[in-house]
Amino acid sequence: MFEKILIANRGEVALRIQRACRELGIKTVVVHSEADRDAKYVKLADESVCIGPPPSAQSYLNIPAIISAAEVTDAEAIHPGWGFLAENADFAERVEQSGFSFIGPKAETIRLLGDKVSAKNAMKKAGLQVVPGVDEALPQEPGEVAKIARSIGYPVIIKAAGGGGGRGMRVVHTEAALPTAVQITRAEAQASFGNPVLYMEKFLEDPRHIEFQVLADKFRNAIHLGERDCSMQRRHQKVIEEAPAPHLGERGRTRVAERCADACRKLGYEGAGTFEFLYEDGEFYFIEINTRLQVEHPVTEMITGMDIVQLQIRVAAGEKLGIRQRDVQFRGHAIECRINAEDPYRFTPSPGRITSYHMPGGPGIRVDSHAYNGYFVPPHYDSLVGKILAHGDTREQAIARLNIALSETVIEGIKTNIPLHQELLQDAAFLRGGASIHYLEEKLAKYAREE
Ligand code: ADP
Repeated sequence: MFEKILIANRGEVALRIQRACRELGIKTVVVHSEADRDAKYVKLADESVCIGPPPSAQSYLNIPAIISAAEVTDAEAIHPGWGFLAENADFAERVEQSGFSFIGPKAETIRLLGDKVSAKNAMKKAGLQVVPGVDEALPQEPGEVAKIARSIGYPVIIKAAGGGGGRGMRVVHTEAALPTAVQITRAEAQASFGNPVLYMEKFLEDPRHIEFQVLADKFRNAIHLGERDCSMQRRHQKVIEEAPAPHLGERGRTRVAERCADACRKLGYEGAGTFEFLYEDGEFYFIEINTRLQVEHPVTEMITGMDIVQLQIRVAAGEKLGIRQRDVQFRGHAIECRINAEDPYRFTPSPGRITSYHMPGGPGIRVDSHAYNGYFVPPHYDSLVGKILAHGDTREQAIARLNIALSETVIEGIKTNIPLHQELLQDAAFLRGGASIHYLEEKLAKYAREE
């Protein structure tokens, strides 16, 4: 096992990984920007290294600074967390070339699966159904692009092959709108991901977002930990996640989950990962793989009783996966609310100092947050200040517990999206379960009209 791990991330991510390391008896080094110098999780780490000024480009994305921090602190492995460099194949490669272990898949796997076009083709080969479309890069010539769109049938969605974080996507309903949409998306893809390659899919009108958690070791052993439903989204970003997904056919779910684990074996996938699908009319359509841990991993931890971060560290250290598929037991239901520092209805970021802070507790409640009373939410990063989760024997119990938990929660000094969560937990469609990925967006549009 590793003796010391460097955590190349911040906020609740850094804290979550730190907790896993401490339980395993591994020392931690946290790198941080000047904006995060005083954060409690930085103080809790065994060592910390300031790697640059607040903007992420100069700190959390600064590969040479992170590698130097690992060198001066004698860390053996680097955990990228999620976000920042977690899916950057060049970073994984540099880490390994500098003599450290990268906690995640091999660089070549990240490269293959990070390109959504090559990932779709690899998954088709592995026997998974993908969203209908043309699984190659869009040509430059507008006439050719129009032909492709016609063959798929409108509406279509144009996506960046290198995209992520819900960005680099555009829905097109008519041929007239196509040229401009392609042009804008291509420019965005180049600017945000350094890769102008686009592809096109059928835009599914009423799907749910269902994803499967997998875990694999270096010996081609792979298991799945079931699925999560992350259909409550705004601007393609998840707001509430739950496991198991309500109203899914048992046979289809198991078949797809097993195919995901199988694909991992075939690809020689190492570590934790997520296969994402759109689910419509009983069919699962693969959209992409995240070659890292995800924000919503705790819902799976709550229903399986496993610590995915610890398992991920163990397999990275070369241990065999000690768990067989039949050892994975699912118990009850778990739901997660992402707590963002933002206006609950206008969604403008709300950084600043937290002047009063109280977190909920009680049976079945889990809070993953790096915030505390007096914590200053910096304006430079993602607005996530933490996650509140509830587990129950049934979905109804989990919802009831989450409602109580949110009513106990106090975060003052900044705005948060807790009021929106409270409303969603009472929403008839959410209570029924199985709403589509467009549901929340449509609900919010209705509010905006009424305002
Ligand atoms: P990212 O890597 O940015 O998260 P994804 O490919 O996972 O991008 O897509 C994110 C979200 O965008 C999905 O969960 C879904 O809500 C929406 N989306 C993506 N592809 C389609 C599609 N073909 N039809 C309808 N919605 C889609």
